[in-house]
Amino acid sequence: MSTRGYAVRGPSLPLEPFNFERREPGPHDVLVDIQYCGVCHSDIHQARNEWGGSNYPMVPGHEIIGAAAVVGDKVRKFKVGSKVGVGTFVDSCRRCGPCRAGEEQYCEDGATFTYNCYERDGKTLAQGGYSTYITVDEAYAFNIPEGIPPERAAPLLCAGTTTYSPLRHFGVKRNNRIAVVGLGGLGHMAVKLAKAMGANVTVMSHSPNKREDAMRLGADDFITTGDPEVFKKHASRFDFIIDAVSAKHDFNAYLNLLHFEGTMILVGLPDPTPLAPSALESQRRRLTGSNVGGTRETQEMLDFCAKHGIAADVEVIPIQRIEEAFDRTVRSDVRYRFVIDTASLKKS
Ligand code: NAP
Ligand code: ZN
Ligand code: ZN
Repeated sequence: MSTRGYAVRGPSLPLEPFNFERREPGPHDVLVDIQYCGVCHSDIHQARNEWGGSNYPMVPGHEIIGAAAVVGDKVRKFKVGSKVGVGTFVDSCRRCGPCRAGEEQYCEDGATFTYNCYERDGKTLAQGGYSTYITVDEAYAFNIPEGIPPERAAPLLCAGTTTYSPLRHFGVKRNNRIAVVGLGGLGHMAVKLAKAMGANVTVMSHSPNKREDAMRLGADDFITTGDPEVFKKHASRFDFIIDAVSAKHDFNAYLNLLHFEGTMILVGLPDPTPLAPSALESQRRRLTGSNVGGTRETQEMLDFCAKHGIAADVEVIPIQRIEEAFDRTVRSDVRYRFVIDTASLKKS
């Protein structure tokens, strides 16, 4: 299937038009006519090779919403015209413990991520959602519930599931005190989801001008992190911290905000920073991380969002503005997710 996309060909090169082929849908596949794709900070890290090992040409994008254009003979979940979501991975070994548990992102054989990853044949470079079509096995695609506008649903496929999964897995409960660090794409979803779970939510941000937004999104409190005194004032205050910051920062300062046996969950993936053992040891605190969400939790999250009227706050852009969107995201100047309208690709 002839597909138009935007690709990056090297770490310091801009994205530019790129035509490529998608596989013809097999019996279990859905060919998705992509309508919207969110712009995740992981797209930027990988396009710019900030994690190392990037594969080019790279069509980023793993927050994909579209309509089923073709469904294979054996497809059960979708009909032609169904609303389909595709997230951060498109295949996995299907046999190991995590795969059988619907936590394919932790596949022991390595999940096939939606882009910047070789497919299971070891030869085909997977390409993401900054494009007109994607072919995906229905087992790795999601039903998008009625009632969520498609452009506001797209970011749920990564930002939504990446924050829902640890909130559920680590057992965040009603009235737990939780700090969300970094009010970006992930952070703003963490606020909405944690509030819907009944938690008491504090946003910690290095952007003082986000206070009003944080409160509108449902936060109970807002702390600006620029003043080092706040780390003394709020010591031992939280049960959980979700750290969704994309740039290097000092984890130890945040760990000290957890009380006895509190848990800090890293979802942000900046450059490493030194860890002081005493920040954990002194109050038997836990530091952990969490990788996106598996198929089981992602569908659960979509249904949870529909039930609670939750969707992402988005700024819709044509693909031609992608460089500006990357730069503004890096400057924390996005409220709170850029989403590409792929009609702009179909016209170009
Ligand atoms: P984003 O929209 O750019 O948000 C990141 C936030 O980090 C910003 O809004 C800002 O919040 C804060 N920040 C940025 N630069 C900062 C700096 N220099 N100092 C202090 N704070 C800064 O990014 P995102 O898409 O939410 O992704 C966040 C991170 O999670 C990225 O590293 C991404 O790769 C990673 N990620 C991980 C997973 C996973 O599975 N674990 C999934 C998706 C994304 P304030 O303005 O409020 O301070
Ligand atoms: Zn992502
Ligand atoms: Zn597996």
